[in-house]
Amino acid sequence: MKIDSNGNLILGTTVILITTLLLMAIFVFTAINYIENENIDSSENDNFKYVIDDYTRNLEVLGRSSINDATEWVYHTYKLSDSRGEIKKNLEKKLDKENEKFEEKYDMKISSEVLSVENTDSPWKILFKVKLNIEKNNNRYSKIVEKNASIEGLKDPLPVAKLSVASGIYKQGDKLNYKNALTRYLKLRNLESPFSYAFATTPQFIKKCPYDPYIHHGDPGVLKDCLKNGYFHESADGSCYLCRLEGKAVCPHYGMEVFIQTHTPLTNGSVSCSDHVVFHDHYNGEKLNKYDFDSLILDSSHRKKYGLGGEDDGQ
Ligand SMILES: [Zn+2]
Ligand SMILES: [Zn+2]
Repeated sequence: MKIDSNGNLILGTTVILITTLLLMAIFVFTAINYIENENIDSSENDNFKYVIDDYTRNLEVLGRSSINDATEWVYHTYKLSDSRGEIKKNLEKKLDKENEKFEEKYDMKISSEVLSVENTDSPWKILFKVKLNIEKNNNRYSKIVEKNASIEGLKDPLPVAKLSVASGIYKQGDKLNYKNALTRYLKLRNLESPFSYAFATTPQFIKKCPYDPYIHHGDPGVLKDCLKNGYFHESADGSCYLCRLEGKAVCPHYGMEVFIQTHTPLTNGSVSCSDHVVFHDHYNGEKLNKYDFDSLILDSSHRKKYGLGGEDDGQ
């Protein structure tokens, strides 16, 4: 009995000792790892920094291409109710492939997670946030990489998201021709002079108008050039690119607007031609020049914004 209890005592002490040592070892190991992670950025590994820079540059290209995939999806008659989610999914797929390439190129383990697709202060840029995990020789490093991608040059998804490709909208050079789709749309809503918008045109590709401040559109030749090039304009009332993908003509984000150009002999007033007005706000405007078939139909507040105040100003 005595030997047994002594044996128990020794066994007990040993177990406690081993447990304590084990816990200490785990603690030390975790602490070292933590310190390593903290220091990597500054000292040890310029290598990681190089990889992250390379990765970030790629993110801009892949982000933009992920937006473009969503746009093409809309142009192929699909409806998007969550454009951010769709773009996120597209980007995740692209990054999975990219990670493999990076693993080979840099001989590291790389994984990533797309955290968000967000609006920015500028309607021309979308912000991507990605969590990047890199591992090499037991060094682990995590960083949230952020990059803006431009939407300039991409197609405007709003016309097809709003009216669908089946509505008859067709490509005409670098513009879209609404054919009878807008007339039908305005007629359905009992808006004034729907036939003014028969065969109206709109730019297909997002281009930022260089005539800034916009009041210069009243200067000789400017409006004509703006329409010829199909420029888009910043607008607090118009919708952002991500909401355009969902077929929304207005949204809470800082967005853009574009003139839908009518080509009509009709001279009566109709819906003002800024796209957020045609598709959502529905207030009326008058032709800038009654005798010009290609004249814009504009309300007074847009005339003011673009410096097109007078009856015969502009074109
Ligand atoms: Zn312009
Ligand atoms: Zn929006």
